[in-house]
Amino acid sequence: MPASPLILTSLPVNESRDIMRPMSSNWLTMPVTLDYPFAAEPRTGDGSAIEIAPGVLWLRMPVFASLPWINVWAIKEEGGWTIVDTGLRSAQTIDAWQTAFGGALGSAPVLRVVVTHMHPDHCGVAGWIVERFKVRLWMSRLEYLSCRLMAADTGRKAPEDGIEFYRAAGWDDSAIGRYRARFGSFGEMIYPLPASYRRISDGDTLRLGGRDWTVVVGHGHSPEHACLYCPELKLLISGTRFCRAYLRMCPCIRRNPRLIRSAIGSTR
Ligand SMILES: [Zn+2]
Repeated sequence: MPASPLILTSLPVNESRDIMRPMSSNWLTMPVTLDYPFAAEPRTGDGSAIEIAPGVLWLRMPVFASLPWINVWAIKEEGGWTIVDTGLRSAQTIDAWQTAFGGALGSAPVLRVVVTHMHPDHCGVAGWIVERFKVRLWMSRLEYLSCRLMAADTGRKAPEDGIEFYRAAGWDDSAIGRYRARFGSFGEMIYPLPASYRRISDGDTLRLGGRDWTVVVGHGHSPEHACLYCPELKLLISGTRFCRAYLRMCPCIRRNPRLIRSAIGSTR
């Protein structure tokens, strides 16, 4: 068991190396060295997994575009599994989960799905898994509602309010053009979420795999991003909270000190 908490991020190593030091005044430029305690990594989408703590499995699902894969987690329960995060909607991700169900998960059923936040690489196949196993989706309220709201924009034109906002945030014409072209595509990257869900909130204690996990909510990367911390295992499933890459991807955050302070403050 690690002496200090082990942080499980969702992103590839080169992104995770940018982990921020929230208490530091010059955290944007400070290099931080991370320890990677595991010599082996799971292979992407072949049904394999690595046990990183008793009853906690690390798997990888295929993604596309800028990310080659995303880390997801399975926690062993009495008679099945809790899944944390799911991957982007695609035939490859479904194949990867089918292989994992019959592989590392030993054909035991999924008992619940917890999603850290609304981005498609995290919640993209949550709807498919909960429907397949007839189980409940666990998610924070703002993440669930925001996800359904954005999915409802599928096929709509980019709103003038949005264009105005991003221009004010410093986007140039080509960035605005990409925003227009891609607006409404969110819903194509996720299976529809179920019509109901189990709400999780900051400070909740979830009993997963026979241990207590505390919900730690942060803002900035997404509206109500939930991390899961297990004091007994000294393990933090951080989703995409501890990653500076989102500041590079979101100029509206990068150029707004208030949002940066909010993102940092909520990480403490
Ligand atoms: Zn994200």
